[in-house]
Amino acid sequence: MSEHHPKVICEVDTCTHWLPGEVCGAANIDILNEEEQSAESVEHTMCKTFAERRGLANLLGSADNVNWRGAIEAAIMPDRELSPTTTCVVDSCVYWEEGNLCMADEIFVSGSGAKECQDTNCGTFKKK
Ligand code: SF4
Ligand code: SF4
Repeated sequence: MSEHHPKVICEVDTCTHWLPGEVCGAANIDILNEEEQSAESVEHTMCKTFAERRGLANLLGSADNVNWRGAIEAAIMPDRELSPTTTCVVDSCVYWEEGNLCMADEIFVSGSGAKECQDTNCGTFKKK
């Protein structure tokens, strides 16, 4: 049985993993608390996998976290949508489940124009 993972929709087009269509091309993303304490609101969360897009060097630097298999499947199977697995430590969220899983059907990663991880958020966070 495969673990549940939400479909990831992302608006952070300054990220090296971002693809047109609000798609994230990373193999896995890590959603973290911005501070030591558990998040109280959306702004206290972030996508730690964000990496600012900066030309070719950065593109190559992210090559070890690319969902190649998903990309190939999405290319040959139109019904398959490209989406990373999600690891989330924000246990103050209603969708969080033991094992750092997110049980939401989909999550929306916000932070258009972000320059660093802290500028991004899990927009789907909902306090328990
Ligand atoms: S900010 Fe996170 S979810 Fe969005 S494209 Fe980058 S790694 Fe993927
Ligand atoms: S919706 Fe909640 S559990 Fe899912 S990734 Fe966002 S903060 Fe984590």
